[in-house]
Amino acid sequence: MGQTKPTEDFRDKISTVDEKGKRIWVFAKKPFGKWFNKRQVISYSLLLFLFSAPFISVDGEPLLLFNLLERKFIIFGKIFWPQDFYIFAIAMLTGLVFIVLFTLVFGRLFCGWICPQTIFMEFVFRRIEYWIEGDWTHQKRLEKQPWNREKIIKKASKHALFFFIAFLVANIFLSYIIGYREVFDIISDNPLNHLGGLIAILVFSFLFYGVFAFMREQVCTTICPYGRLQSVLLDQNSMVITYDYVRGEKRSKFRKNEDREAEGKGDCIDCNQCVNVCPTGIDIRNGTQLECVNCTACIDACDHIMESIEKPKGLIRYASDESIKTGIAFQFSKKAKAYSIVLVLLLGLLTTLTASRSDFDMTVKRTAGSKLFHEMEGNKIGNIYSINIINKTNKDLPLEFKLLEGEGEIKIISESRILPKQDMYKSSFLLMMEGDNIKGLKTYFKLGVYSNGKLIDKTNVTFIGPAYN
Ligand code: SF4
Ligand code: SF4
Repeated sequence: MGQTKPTEDFRDKISTVDEKGKRIWVFAKKPFGKWFNKRQVISYSLLLFLFSAPFISVDGEPLLLFNLLERKFIIFGKIFWPQDFYIFAIAMLTGLVFIVLFTLVFGRLFCGWICPQTIFMEFVFRRIEYWIEGDWTHQKRLEKQPWNREKIIKKASKHALFFFIAFLVANIFLSYIIGYREVFDIISDNPLNHLGGLIAILVFSFLFYGVFAFMREQVCTTICPYGRLQSVLLDQNSMVITYDYVRGEKRSKFRKNEDREAEGKGDCIDCNQCVNVCPTGIDIRNGTQLECVNCTACIDACDHIMESIEKPKGLIRYASDESIKTGIAFQFSKKAKAYSIVLVLLLGLLTTLTASRSDFDMTVKRTAGSKLFHEMEGNKIGNIYSINIINKTNKDLPLEFKLLEGEGEIKIISESRILPKQDMYKSSFLLMMEGDNIKGLKTYFKLGVYSNGKLIDKTNVTFIGPAYN
């Protein structure tokens, strides 16, 4: 896409690995500018939300909880059970289409602006690194110098702080799974009482520490599946961060008072600032590459240069390859429109399913192993059923059972008539009917379950009687 270099050698290997397969450490220059400021506001807002959400309660329940172990999920205070799995399936499908559509139209916007890996790396860990070790040139010098007092203090304090933050992130991460109270118990109680939880916290702490202290951009360039997918999702019309080679080439060093146009030179002064700030170590002038996480640092860097040489900003900018080539402004392609329609339909379905989702799930089955029917005193016939009711709300509810259709008598076998909050009520009941009212092998009833006088759920029940009736 829009290469200006005679060879495409750079596509044979990732930018952070040399010919021998050895890692090239990226010392990225500290970015600043309009785009960085915007990303900063969004990133710190998202971090604030991420760190506070586990502590926010709605009706006594956390705002968000993804308890895979107990298969309990709470999203914005609403409790979802395995029975609501179909909503998750639709949500996953919607998410997948959304990613495809979004990437097709807006490239890897997600990576630069929302992805937790980029946000933590660029706005937490790398900020600490700049604060302790200084900008990229200082970091390089520190790396090369022997292990003296300065190096030991700087490296030790940086890694100690990195691990502490990784530990905090691990605690927050676990709070989303088991709740913050459980996490607090694990870290404050006798470790022997919570060995499993403690091991989980330590494993996640070391994992996050390893990712942000050492793995860094390798997560985006070699591990993240979304990064790998972009080569098939992007097309000529996708909006990406790109270098305007039409305007920039032929690149050449800046000379004061030179008429570059007359010399056949473009606006790129080959200052390498866009490369120096890149956290994945690429040269965006080579065109769209899988390593680019759309962090916007190169836009800011180049805009500063353009300003200093009194040229218009935007030599590197958000644009599609097609718009650079043709000079026609970015357009919404037919494919993107088709994806949008599918996405809107899926979102509509998801909203309807979530809004119409019942707070209760009831199952009534004939009790396994019992006789088809029981002949009882007073010419009565009885059938035994088992009943399960799931309460997805966070209130204990008193229960009452009534027949909505048909004449009969219900006897609940369990003593309890309370449906516990976020739990299941299990019991059996005997349904009795006057023998004279039974008209054949099968009679149909409608069972209603009430709480505080309000019908909360209902279901059909088949009653088996003697065939001779
Ligand atoms: S920052 Fe701009 S002018 Fe400098 S090398 Fe990059 S594209 Fe060219
Ligand atoms: S090329 Fe630019 S946008 Fe892409 S990762 Fe490098 S600095 Fe960020």
